[in-house]
Amino acid sequence: MWRAVETTDPEVHHLLQEENRRQFDKIRLIPSENYVSRAVLEATGSIFTNKYSEGYAGKRYYEGQQNVDTLERLAIARARELFGAERANVQPYSGSPANLAVYFGLLELGDTILGLSLPHGGHLTHGWSVSITGSYYRSVQYTVHPETGLLDLDMLRELARKERPKLIVAGATAYPRTIDFEGFAAIAAEVGAFLLVDMAHIAGLVAGGAHPSPVPHADVVSTTTHKTLRGPRGGMLLMRRKVAKRINKAVFPGLQGGPHNHTTAALAVALREAATEEFQSYAHSIVKNAQALAERLLEHGFKLVTGGTDNHLVLVDVTPRGTTGKPLAKALDTAGIVCNYNTVPFDPRPPMDPSGLRLGTPAVTTRGMGPAEMRRIADWIAEVTEVRDDEAALAKIAGQIREFCHNFPAPGIELGS
Ligand SMILES: *Cc1c(COP(=O)(O)O)cnc(C)c1O
Repeated sequence: MWRAVETTDPEVHHLLQEENRRQFDKIRLIPSENYVSRAVLEATGSIFTNKYSEGYAGKRYYEGQQNVDTLERLAIARARELFGAERANVQPYSGSPANLAVYFGLLELGDTILGLSLPHGGHLTHGWSVSITGSYYRSVQYTVHPETGLLDLDMLRELARKERPKLIVAGATAYPRTIDFEGFAAIAAEVGAFLLVDMAHIAGLVAGGAHPSPVPHADVVSTTTHKTLRGPRGGMLLMRRKVAKRINKAVFPGLQGGPHNHTTAALAVALREAATEEFQSYAHSIVKNAQALAERLLEHGFKLVTGGTDNHLVLVDVTPRGTTGKPLAKALDTAGIVCNYNTVPFDPRPPMDPSGLRLGTPAVTTRGMGPAEMRRIADWIAEVTEVRDDEAALAKIAGQIREFCHNFPAPGIELGS
C-alpha cells in the first residue's frame, strides 16, 4: 500500500505502516474513534482535495464548481434525509468549529451560555474556561447530580431560571446514559434560550435508531462526522429553518474559508452507508457491546459511573481496584488495549491522573466483535489491573491480544498475518 508515499517519503511511509499495524493489533476502546470503510477512505484521499470552493452551492467565489456543487448538495440532502433536519451545513472543519459557528451566529460576545462542565462529561467548547467559548461568552456550567451521576433537569431548570442563558448546550463527551432532549427543549423554551444539542459522540447511534434523536427538539444540532457516525474527520450542523441563515453565514464567511471538498465527498459516502439496515444493526450492537463490557467490569469489582450504560461508552472508576486512571491506561496500552483516562464526576483527583477510564465500543463493534468478546476484553482489563507493574506479564497479554485481533478484520486495513 501507499507506493507513491514509499517512493517520495520513506519516513511517512514507515509511520503509515506502523499505524496500520497498531490499529490492527490492538483493541481500540477510545469511544470517539472508529474504523471508516474503504469507500470513505478512498473518498477522503481523493482529488476533491485539489478544488477551492469558498461559498455555498450556486454562490461560489471560484469557477469550476460543476462537480463540487453537486457533491455538496448531495451530502446536504443525505444529511437532511437521514436525520430529518430542515437544513444542513456540511462545511465545518470539525466539531469544535461547528460549535463555534453556532455561538458566532446566534450570540453576541458576553452573552450567557449554559453548558455541561468538562469534568462532568461536557466538551471544552461547551464553555469550559480555557476554551474561547468560556472566555468570550459568559459561561455558566451545570453538573450531573452528585449522588446519581445523572443529568438532573430539575437542577438545570433552577439554574436556567436564575442565569437566563441565551443558549443552552446539551450533549457530552463522557456521559453513559440516554439524554432527554425533549426535557432540555422545555427548559430552553421556558427561559427563552436557544437549544444547541452537540451529538458528536452519539450521531451514529441516532442515525441507527439506538438513541433518541435531538433533531425534533433542538434549534440546532452540531456533530462531528468521525465518531460513531463513522465518516471522515469533520463537522456538520443540522438546523431549523429559522436559524439556518445566521449560522450558515457564521460558518462562511464568518469563521472559515474554503470547505474541504474531499471531506464532503467522504461524508456523503458515510451518510449513504449510515442509511442502510446494516448500519442500524451496527448501532444497536455498539450499545449491546457496551452493556456486556459494563456488566463484566462490575463482576470484576470496578465501579461504574451511573452503574452502567445506555450508549456506546462506559465510565469506570478504577479506584476501588487500588489504582488510578493514568497508570492503568498506560499499562493497558502496553498490553494492547487502548483507552483514555478520564475524570469521574466530582473527582477528588487531578485531571492529569484522575480516578477513571473512559471505554467505548464503536471501533470493536465495527470489527465484528460481540458480547462474548466484550467479556473477554473485560477479563483482560481486570488481569492488566492486577499485573500493571509487571512488564513481562503485560507483554504476554499483548501477544494474546494480537492473536485475538487477527480474527476480526478491520475495514480499511489490509494486513492480517
Ligand atoms: C469530539 C467532540 C467535539 C469536538 O470535535 P473535534 O472534531 O475534536 O473538534 C465537540 N463536542 C463533543 C461533544 C465531542 O465529543
